[in-house]
Amino acid sequence: ENSRQKQLVELHEQAVKLYHHILTNTKMGEAALAYLHKRGVSDETITTYQLGYAPAQRLLKPFFDERHVDYQLLRKSGLFSEDEAGNLRDRFVDRVMYPIRNGSGQTVAFSGRLLTTNPEMPKYLNSPETETFNKRKILFNLDLARTNIRNQQPAILFEGFMDVISAYQAGIKSGIASMGTSLTEQQIYDIKRITRDVVICYDGDTPGQKAIKRAIDEFSHHDTNLNVKVVSIPNGMDPDEFIRSKGADDFNKLLTHAQAPVEFELNYLKKQYNLNSEVDQSRYIAEAIKLISQVNSGISRDLYLNRLADEFSVDKSLLQQQLTPLLKKTP
Ligand code: ATP
Ligand code: MN
Ligand code: MN
Ligand code: MN
Repeated sequence: ENSRQKQLVELHEQAVKLYHHILTNTKMGEAALAYLHKRGVSDETITTYQLGYAPAQRLLKPFFDERHVDYQLLRKSGLFSEDEAGNLRDRFVDRVMYPIRNGSGQTVAFSGRLLTTNPEMPKYLNSPETETFNKRKILFNLDLARTNIRNQQPAILFEGFMDVISAYQAGIKSGIASMGTSLTEQQIYDIKRITRDVVICYDGDTPGQKAIKRAIDEFSHHDTNLNVKVVSIPNGMDPDEFIRSKGADDFNKLLTHAQAPVEFELNYLKKQYNLNSEVDQSRYIAEAIKLISQVNSGISRDLYLNRLADEFSVDKSLLQQQLTPLLKKTP
């Protein structure tokens, strides 16, 4: 770690303190604080995650100027936008600030959320890529979750950091999230270094379900050694909404009932067909058999095949005949 990177982290840590102070101790921060409280975020959580507020008046640039921070360092920090003349202005304006820490607990970026969403502006604005921040390499909350995951808790993979934070506040402290991108190889590698047990817990809406499918594919593409499970949040809610409306106990129940990826994929597949039509039924069955053929355990394959036979009242031996040629040849 070179000294430039240290300086960038130091700069972020000062910005964290300033934004946090504005949120918790000033009149300017009142609306943002009320927003977080209304979302059920406790003061303890605000402290744990050092949440903050970047006010409408740009304060960060003058704050650093007063301290004579080097212009080139400010330029490289990602905390400012730059005009043609090279003038820097605070990038984050009127947003709730979520510090993004790397696996070692150093703050390397921010994500800022609008208090009220507006179709003209992104709901979340992230820092751009910098020398210390590569969003494909970061797992939000890994620094706090690592010990809990090592302590035999599965790594719970969420879509958004509000889901991670909400779960943490409810006592479920092994949650992590990618930065609004789909799961990357580097992130899978980082998870693998600390655990074999992963639960995918994305939003219950359609984009969330699509993202689960992509994450399952990523995991199976990079590693078959991980024990991956899937939770489906009911009624299109996301985990944060579910925890707030139903509580931690119900959420823990969902976690205990996490499905094998193939079960999720069978359900997901089923939704694409009109199962009142016989043509669609046999198409679904053919695709379902393909999915079942990917399952490693022979016993599990047999169980899924039984289920499929029962579900459509078809002869299991016919399904077996379709399955056999699809099985990977074991040498
Ligand atoms: P909230 O509950 O505050 O609305 P969320 O986490 O439920 O947030 P989603 O819309 O479900 O938000 O998006 C999931 C994640 O995708 C976010 O946490 C964020 O990381 C990312 N994301 C969402 N919208 C944007 C955006 N406009 N620009 C960049 N990233 C975004
Ligand atoms: Mn979503
Ligand atoms: Mn949400
Ligand atoms: Mn969400």
